[in-house]
Amino acid sequence: MEYEVIIGLEVHVQLNTNSKIFSTATNEFGGSPNTHISTLCVALPGTLPVLNEVVLEKAVRAGLALGCDITQFTKFDRKNYFYPDLPKGYQISQFDKPYATKGGLHVKWKGQPEEKFIPLTRIHMEEDAGKLIHSHDPSIHHSYVDYNRAGTPLIEIVSEPDMRSSEEAYAYLNELKTILRYVQVSDCNMEEGSLRCDANVSIRPIGEKGFRTRVEIKNLNSFKAVKQAIDYEVEWQKDQYSRNQTFVQMTKLWDATLLKTIPMRTKEMSHDYRYFPEPDLPALEISDQYIDDIRKTLPELPRAKKERYIREFGLPEYDAEVLTSEREIAEYFEKSLEISKDAKKTSNWVKDEVLGIVNKENISISEFSVGPDRIGKLVALINSGEITGKIAKTIFEDMLTSTDSPEKIVEVKGLKVVRDDKALEEIIVRVIASQPESVEAWNNGKDRALGAIVGAVMKETKGKADPKLANELILAKLGPLGEKKKV
Ligand code: ADP
Ligand code: MG
Repeated sequence: MEYEVIIGLEVHVQLNTNSKIFSTATNEFGGSPNTHISTLCVALPGTLPVLNEVVLEKAVRAGLALGCDITQFTKFDRKNYFYPDLPKGYQISQFDKPYATKGGLHVKWKGQPEEKFIPLTRIHMEEDAGKLIHSHDPSIHHSYVDYNRAGTPLIEIVSEPDMRSSEEAYAYLNELKTILRYVQVSDCNMEEGSLRCDANVSIRPIGEKGFRTRVEIKNLNSFKAVKQAIDYEVEWQKDQYSRNQTFVQMTKLWDATLLKTIPMRTKEMSHDYRYFPEPDLPALEISDQYIDDIRKTLPELPRAKKERYIREFGLPEYDAEVLTSEREIAEYFEKSLEISKDAKKTSNWVKDEVLGIVNKENISISEFSVGPDRIGKLVALINSGEITGKIAKTIFEDMLTSTDSPEKIVEVKGLKVVRDDKALEEIIVRVIASQPESVEAWNNGKDRALGAIVGAVMKETKGKADPKLANELILAKLGPLGEKKKV
């Protein structure tokens, strides 16, 4: 039987505020256990939450960037459950009045050249829980709790069950991460847990209406794991149905070593959590003015930027995609372009040479020692004919280890293109005289011989000969192909 795959993703994103969502404790990744905590993070009696207003601002920013409607009247609720990493015995979250609804993302992936819109159901704010630390030492029979993460502000972004393959889910996550990084609400780093994803997966025979039982997969530590886990789970469910087995809604864990999804518990329902309105926090009324003020500060978003690069600069789609994949890369490109005035050449330099090194060294482009002004100038020098593309590569190498401008390197090393007819002609005469076999071949109609001579001239001039001029002069000396030149 042919099945259709149904996927909905729940993505938790930590907001990069200075302090936590309901207290003044520092919001920082890492650090010794229990050093970024306040009395509220460990739920000492008598402590009360106060909403950090930057959390609301960043959450609204994310919601607007994702095209959501911001709810005018929103409130917090208690989600009750017991676990040692949650000292209050409940998590402050939002239940029936999330601060943002609808919206969605346009995604593309391999095999889907047209954009697909994946709608969101909702986004809500909540606090993160602490972390349990278990020892690997078998003689230690207890665990530790680190509350540094407790109270870290989160937004949970819930998609509609509208994805139909693991590739699509992967593309959705990538797009989501790109947008949230653009608007600078989070660095969305899965390894550090600032972006976490649960995947809901079900399948149904093609043509069937309505959804079947879903499995929720947790413990996904990378985008790759999300894809692998979905693919594994789809096969598991197909196998169940093929053997006429039913299964109940449950939560599974992805085991990245065994490459398997493993049942963890049957899925709890929302009524199990005894949600009720949080009495210690006031409800929020968000004004249109507040929303508009935030909307005005949004940068040009990646999709609009990409379209503009294609339209305005005539760049190929692939170039536009790479250059707009990070806000910092786009800024670097635009600054270089201001100086170079040549979009395609600048694009090539940024995406091949600059990003080549940035990616290899695993740094961000703003940490790269060669700034956009020097790259822009380098491209301008190529365009004005002062240096060849080949020489530009050696200048680039030099710039990596110095702070000199490309002009200065050209000057000091004497790298200017040789465009002096006389000087070049002398070299050409010498080269031709030293290569009688090539001249002979040329006269016998072998046009490949020209390449050998050009190559030798370039070598003689250390790549500095103006290639066009060199070609012309050599041809003038050799005469027409296949004819012995009369002297
Ligand atoms: P819960 O809190 O119970 O996980 P949520 O509403 O937060 O429920 O999230 C449900 C997620 O599961 C959403 O992303 C939704 O799109 C997805 N989903 C719902 N039904 C199905 C289904 N049959 N198959 C796959 N995904 C589903
Ligand atoms: Mg959920």
